[in-house]
This record gives sequence, C-alpha cells and structure tokens, in this order.
Amino acid sequence: MNKPEVLYMVVPCYNEEEVLHETARQLKEKYTALIQQNLISAKSRVVFVNDGSKDKTWSIICELHGENPEFFSGINLAHNSGHQNAVLAGLMTVKDICDMAITMDADLQDDINTIDAMVKKYYEGNQVVYGVRSARKTDTFFKKFTAESFYKFMQVMGADVVYNHADFRLMSRRVLQELAGFKEVHLFLRGMIPLIGFQSCNVYYERHERFAGESKYPLKKMLSFAINGITSFSTKPLKMITSLGFAMSVVSILAFLWGLIIKIADLSISGWSSTICSIWLIGGLQLLCLGVIGEYVGKIYAEVKQRPRFIVAEFINDSENQ
Ligand code: UDP
Ligand code: MG
Repeated sequence: MNKPEVLYMVVPCYNEEEVLHETARQLKEKYTALIQQNLISAKSRVVFVNDGSKDKTWSIICELHGENPEFFSGINLAHNSGHQNAVLAGLMTVKDICDMAITMDADLQDDINTIDAMVKKYYEGNQVVYGVRSARKTDTFFKKFTAESFYKFMQVMGADVVYNHADFRLMSRRVLQELAGFKEVHLFLRGMIPLIGFQSCNVYYERHERFAGESKYPLKKMLSFAINGITSFSTKPLKMITSLGFAMSVVSILAFLWGLIIKIADLSISGWSSTICSIWLIGGLQLLCLGVIGEYVGKIYAEVKQRPRFIVAEFINDSENQ
C-alpha cells in the first residue's frame, strides 16, 4: 500500500464537558490502531473545536492537548457560532495540513468504528464518504419521526441531501479546498458537499445514544435548521407561490364569470359570509406568500453583508512535532 495519509478529525464541542474525556479516550484508541495498521499517518490529529462553551470544555481540550499533543489539537472559537459554523471553522483550519478530514459529533452518537471503513473507501478513490444511519433504534419515536420527515420533506422541496446522513463524513483535501470557495453565510453542509461533486460513496452505521449530557439541538433549533436547509438550497417555495397564484387567478376568473351569470339571470342573493370568507382566505394566502418571499429577502440581506462566519481565537496544534 502507499504511504499512509494524514487524517484530521474535526469534532465540534458545545458544553460537552461530560463526554469529552470518553470521546478522547475512544478516539485515541482508534487512532493508535489505525496508525499501527498503517492506514493513517502518525501525523494525524483529532481537532476539538470549542464552540463558545460556557462550561469547562475548553480547559479540558487544553488539558488533552497538553497530555497528548501527538493526538489532540484544539480550536477555540471567539463565541458560539452554531454546529455548522464550528464544523466549517475546523475544516477550514485543517484544510492545508491534512490529506483527509472526518467530521464527527462529540457525543459518541456517531460510531467510531466506522472510521476504518471510511478511510478504506478514501483509499479506493472516493473523495467524499457519507456516514449513513442504518437504523434509528436508539432515537425516541419523536426524534425518529421528525428527522425522517425532515429528509423526506427536503427531497420533496428540491434540496439534494443524502437520506439519513447527518454530518458524519470524510472529505478529501481536494474537496475541502473546493468547499473554501463556498462563501455563503447560512451553512447547510449536508446540502453543500453533494454540490461539490467528485466520486463519493456511503458507509452505513448504527447511531448510538448520546454518551452523556443533553442534546444541544432542541426542536426549535431543528426546525430553523430545516427551514434554513430548504431556503438555502431550493427556490421551489417561490415557484410554488407562482403556481398557487396562477391557480388562484384561474379560480377567481371562473368565480367572476359565475357571479356575472347569476347577476344577469337575476338570481343573486346577498352573501355577506362568503364575501368575508374569501377576503380572509385571500388575505391569509397573501400574507403567507409575502412571508416566504420575506424569508428569501432576509437571506439576501444576510448574505450581502459577507460577515465572517466564525472567528478563530486560538489554534493549538503540534503537527510539526513528530
Ligand atoms: N454543537 C456545537 N455548537 C452548537 C450546538 C451543538 O458545536 O451550538 C455540537 C455539539 O457539541 C455536538 C454536535 O454539535 O458535538 C451535535 O449536537 P447534539 O449532539 O447536541 O445534536 P443532536 O445529536 O441531538 O442532533
Ligand atoms: Mg448528538
């Protein structure tokens, strides 16, 4: 086999003090095995990205780096930027020092043993390897239902996402370089990566329960993530408004003709309630349509500002020290 290549794991962490030690222990074990099998280079690292945590997360990361600089690195973001931005911050920081990068949650829900398969697929020539959940046995009914509806709805709305794939994936250095060219502020990585293209494949894994602590993705955040995904990747809602408007126009012309015929035939009766109802209906529809347009206008507003998407306060890494 060729020379083993450098793998960087990017692990976003927000208030993860309860799980970090265990995650680090398991990752260290995995890295040791992979290095021994000559699958990855000894220059490979795990980079924990501290996303403005309020607990001891950053001091634990510094401690891990101090004890094992040959395994662990850390990025401290200046403030909480959200999961997607934290992942991007990590990827953009390591894109020039790694051959491949894997993004993984800190809570051990993604199966660490899938890393082997991902790396092997990379050597087979895949530039992107998507980790896809094979089962959702450990999710509550509510989480399973909302998550699966989310993927189905995304597909119906025209956003091209890999079904049941979250953000557990391997990307090659080449893909990361291309990702750097995507300047959007509203990140939805699982929609952006398929847009980059290149040879890709899926590996399947069972998602575990969170090792400790609580989900940092409550329903409210999940909903806004779904809306963000659709409005960032599809103009289908706008097209649906046009179709709706068209259908409404046809109906109103027919209604107008009907009204005229009744009037001419002198059959008209005063219909206060039907008038009021239609006014409310049309008013409601108009507001709905304006709302959808507003969503897009709001996005344009945020995009044109071109604010930095994250600010790296510190990067502790020992990549040369091998
Ligand atoms: N996370 C983050 N910033 C945030 C929220 C979450 O970096 O603002 C991280 C979190 O530490 C975890 C990952 O993103 O590693 C996924 O979050 P979580 O496990 O809470 O989401 P769930 O798996 O419940 O959807
Ligand atoms: Mg989780």
